[in-house]
Amino acid sequence: MHIDIISALPELLESPLSHSIMKRARAKGLLEVRVINLREYGLGRHAQIDDYQYGGGEGMVMMAEPLAACIDELMKSRSYDEVIYMTPDGQRLDQACANRLSLHGNLLIICGHYKGIDERIREVYVTREISIGDYVLSGGELPAAVLVDSIGRLLPGVLGDETSALMDSFQDRQLAPPVYTRPADFRGNLVPEILLSGNDKAISEWRQQEALRRTAERRPDLLEDGK
Ligand code: SAH
Repeated sequence: MHIDIISALPELLESPLSHSIMKRARAKGLLEVRVINLREYGLGRHAQIDDYQYGGGEGMVMMAEPLAACIDELMKSRSYDEVIYMTPDGQRLDQACANRLSLHGNLLIICGHYKGIDERIREVYVTREISIGDYVLSGGELPAAVLVDSIGRLLPGVLGDETSALMDSFQDRQLAPPVYTRPADFRGNLVPEILLSGNDKAISEWRQQEALRRTAERRPDLLEDGK
């Protein structure tokens, strides 16, 4: 999979996409991520990318022209399955959305700043708008990193054990069961006996039960039918 990210602050994306599982995905050639600096498409001597709002009011707006020039240039050499704008008023990111996006070959993600981007870019280019939750951050870079991580770890071959992503919370509309590692006795708190039993079938049933119990306790909405 190939993902291009348009950003006015590329530095913010460097670290989250260069470690751990994202690093492995990129090293294995399963995920290619390119960050394009919007400043390179800025207008005039100061490479301007934002301007005052029409109608007045506090806060700058990211201009249409630099974004359009950047997107047009990228589209000359690649056709995207989706052009995604990260925005708090978008569709809320969830596991089903990450699963669907992970099936694509080429994605373009636009990070906003200030008051957001000129509405006409959303009308002309953007095919999907995604929010990572009901709160407002100062830029689209962290949301883009969250989105890329949620997609990247689903690509076949990225996680060592293919089944481990399927066991995560929200796959099958269930939360994950509790997990333990050594020591078996931590300050008098013991690991559930069954996990030490070596009985794979019983362990798998226990995990299933615990997942259900936890889901019923914490997120009963996930167990409701047809959602
Ligand atoms: N004025 C806008 C918020 C702009 S925040 C509004 O009220 O909707 C600046 C940028 O940060 C946005 O353009 C977007 O790219 C990003 N951003 C902030 N919060 C976000 C969230 N919850 N999900 C996705 N992107 C977000």
